[in-house]
Amino acid sequence: MNLELDEEQTAVRQLAKDFVDREITPHVVEWDRAESVERGIVKKLGALGFLGLTIDEEYGGSGGDHLAYCLVTEELGRGDSSVRGIVSVSLGLVAKTVAAHGTEEQKREWLPRLTSGEALGCFGLTEPGTGSDAGNLITRAVADGGDYVINGSKMFITNGTWADVVLLFARTNDTPGHKGVSAFLVPTDTPGLTRRTVHGKLGLRGQATAELVLEDVRVPASAMLGAEGKGFSIAMSALAKGRMSVAAGCVGIAQAALDAAVGYAKEREQFGKPIAHYQLVQELLSDIAVDVDAARLLTWRVADLIDRGEQFATAASQAKLFASEAAVRCANNALQVFGGYGYIDEYPVGKLVRDARVMTLYEGTSQIQKLIIGRALTGISAF
Ligand code: FAD
Repeated sequence: MNLELDEEQTAVRQLAKDFVDREITPHVVEWDRAESVERGIVKKLGALGFLGLTIDEEYGGSGGDHLAYCLVTEELGRGDSSVRGIVSVSLGLVAKTVAAHGTEEQKREWLPRLTSGEALGCFGLTEPGTGSDAGNLITRAVADGGDYVINGSKMFITNGTWADVVLLFARTNDTPGHKGVSAFLVPTDTPGLTRRTVHGKLGLRGQATAELVLEDVRVPASAMLGAEGKGFSIAMSALAKGRMSVAAGCVGIAQAALDAAVGYAKEREQFGKPIAHYQLVQELLSDIAVDVDAARLLTWRVADLIDRGEQFATAASQAKLFASEAAVRCANNALQVFGGYGYIDEYPVGKLVRDARVMTLYEGTSQIQKLIIGRALTGISAF
């Protein structure tokens, strides 16, 4: 694996860094308090090509490899995880899945709009009763003439209230478990689809998270993505790549924690000297720094495997597991460096702690990642 960034990767990273410092960082506290990032950010992300990374230019994408995608995601995560999530879901889980499994017609219909930010995508897998055990979802799509009629509900859907299209997973036959699940591209203005904002989140407060309710939602058979019954494997392969993006976002959180903690430790004086002079404070800083580098290397390894066409799913679970737990540790250590000031939102680290916490939960909890890694090691599925 080559650890040197090439010219294109260096340029895209700098572009993202400048964008974050100019368009995101100055608004982070305001957006967090208002429980919404500014909606115009979606078009700005699209204009810079960040919603089209790794997608072919033919479909409006900005090309680039998975390491470039990681670098941008990391920078966005350093700025605001709520903004990072917009990209990880609309590009990482929806557009990339349409690009991989869509018909020519589906690609032409959705990819140019998703990559430009004219339209936003959301990923509807989780239901109120099925989270980790997603294969047992109960939302149902019944064939009716040339259409499907969908009934059910989806929970905790990132981008949900803002999205124009939901990549929805529904049961199309009664086979128990994941075998009867199919994927559909459902425009969110389809009659019968209603959305409710999920309020009161611990973190990612700026992100539009929704519960979706589907009552007799009618879509044409051409809305099915991939073959009937293949929905669960489509969801799992989307999430495997998605975990790289979550891990990159976690590296961004950890880097933000490091930057903030080092800066504060050199400024804040106690007992007559900057607190950076104390060994126990340096221990906190060095623990954060090691976590940042380890998480970054595991994440870049996944990008490298994907770009070389190698198996990457277990490595993605390893990266997501380590980086998410590391982000929680790093943010928490940074808060300790800030003392009481870390506990109020005028300083950045409290938000990092709140935003980091969900990373060990979504796109597969830490326990689920361990079961995936354990299955790869032993050949035994312990789910
Ligand atoms: P459960 O599955 O009920 O798990 C509860 C606990 O049991 C966890 O600790 C889990 O690790 C443990 N557990 C479960 N099964 C096992 C087992 N076999 N062995 C050991 N331990 C086990 N979903 C989407 O589809 N799209 C989205 O865009 C999306 N965005 C989200 C955004 C936010 C802010 C949040 C909070 C969630 C989001 N989710 C989304 C849902 C998320 O993926 C689920 O919350 C997650 O998969 C866990 O499911 P659950 O919450 O039902 O927990």
